Amino acid sequence: MIKAVRGTRDLLPPETALWNFVESAVRDVFRAYNFQEIRTPIFESTELFARGVGEETDIVSKEMYTWEDRGRAESDKRQSLTLRPEATAGIVRAYIEHKLGDRGLNKLYCMGPMFRRERPQKGRYRQFYQIDAEVIGPPSAGSESPARDAEVLEMLATLLDRLGITGWNLELNSVGCPSDRAKFNEALRKALEPVVGKMCADCQRRAVTNPLRVFDCKVPEDQPIIDTLPRISQFLDEPCRAHFDAVQAILTKVGVRFSLNDRLVRGLDYYTRTAFEFTHGALGAQNAILGGGRYDGLSEALGGPAAPGIGFAIGEDRLVMSLQQSASAEGVLRKPDVYVAPLGAGMNSEAARLARELRRHDLVVDLGDETFRLKKSFETATKAGAKYILIVGENEVKAGAFALKNLATGEQVSVPRAELTRRIQE
Ligand code: AMP
Repeated sequence: MIKAVRGTRDLLPPETALWNFVESAVRDVFRAYNFQEIRTPIFESTELFARGVGEETDIVSKEMYTWEDRGRAESDKRQSLTLRPEATAGIVRAYIEHKLGDRGLNKLYCMGPMFRRERPQKGRYRQFYQIDAEVIGPPSAGSESPARDAEVLEMLATLLDRLGITGWNLELNSVGCPSDRAKFNEALRKALEPVVGKMCADCQRRAVTNPLRVFDCKVPEDQPIIDTLPRISQFLDEPCRAHFDAVQAILTKVGVRFSLNDRLVRGLDYYTRTAFEFTHGALGAQNAILGGGRYDGLSEALGGPAAPGIGFAIGEDRLVMSLQQSASAEGVLRKPDVYVAPLGAGMNSEAARLARELRRHDLVVDLGDETFRLKKSFETATKAGAKYILIVGENEVKAGAFALKNLATGEQVSVPRAELTRRIQE
C-alpha cells in the first residue's frame, strides 16, 4: 500500500471545518486592518531563500527541498529551485518585482503550504501551513514606525481572541539594528570562546560562522551555558531602544499583554529590531503558534529599494491544534440538521424536492436513497450524526405531513410540509 510521505499528512473531515473556520476568521480580521491577499508560487529560485533567509540558518543550510530543474533544451543551464520554506522572501520578491510600493500596496497576507525537511513529530511536519502577513513600504509611508509593529501585534491578539483561543503568551524582544548586532556578535564570540568546546556540534559551528544562532540551540545540556551569555538588550543603541519602548507603550495603552524575552532571536537572519513569538501552553514541546518580526534591510538584500517591513507567520497546523482545545471548536463542527429518508420506490424525487427546500433555508441536509430499508436509513442518519431524520414515504406525501424524529431523544412528530423548516430550525 502506498502511504503519505513521512512528515506529510492528509487533513481530513471533520477537522477541515476548523481549518476553514480559521481561514475565514483570518480573512475577516485582516480585512479590518486593510490587509489584502497575495498568492505567490510554491517554488522559487533557490537563491531567493539563500539571500532572503540567510545561508547560515537551519532552514537554508539543512532543511530545504531543492532540486536542479532541467532547462527547455538539453543545452540550457540547469536552474536550482526550492519549495518555499517560508513566505516572507517570496512576498518581498513580489513586492519588488511588481513595484507594489509605488501602488500603495503595503499590507499583504497569504496562506498556504511551506516545506522544511525537519524531524517530524507532533506539531512539526515537513509540509505544514502558514498564514503570513507583511507590512512593507517605503520609509516615507511610515513603514519603519513602531506604530506598525504595535498594529500588527494588536491584530494578532484580536485574531486569537476572535478564534476563542485563550492562554496565549506574547513574548517580545528587540534584536536591534545591524550595528548593534555586530557588537553583540563580537561579545558573544568572546564569551563563547572558553565554553564552546563543551557545546553541541551545531553550536561549535555557529560560534564561528554566526554566534547569534547559538540561541536557536534546543540541546538541553547547552542551555545552562547559553544562560550565561550576554543579552542583546545590553547592546541596543539609542534609536533602537526608543523604537522598542514606543512599541511597548502602544501595546500597554491598547491593552495587549506581553512579556519581554531577550533570548528570543528567531531563526531567520534578516530580522531587525522587534522580534516576537506567541506561544500556547497546551501545545507541548512545539509550543510556538506564530512568530515574526521586523526586517528593515530585507528588500535591499534582495536588490530592491529601501522598504522597511514587519511581518509574521502563524503555524496554521498548531493554531488548529490549540483551537481543538477551545470551546469555539464545538460550534464549528456542524453535523447535519436533518437526514431525509425516502421510503419506498418512487420516493427519491419527492425527497429531493424537500431536501432542496430545506437547504435553501441554510439547513445542513443529508439525503438517503429509496432502496434503503427504514432500519438502514436510521443507521446511516445516526452515523452521520444528524439531529433529525425525516421520513418521506407514500403515506406522508399523500397526507402532506411528514414523520420527523429527533434522533437524540427518540421523540417523533408528524409535521405539515409548510412547517418543516421552522420545526427543524428550532
Ligand atoms: P518560522 O517561519 O520558523 O518563524 O515559523 C513560524 C511558525 O510556523 C511557528 O511558530 C510554527 O507555528 C510554524 N512552524 C514552523 N515550522 C513548522 C513545522 N515544521 N511544522 C509545523 N509548524 C511549523
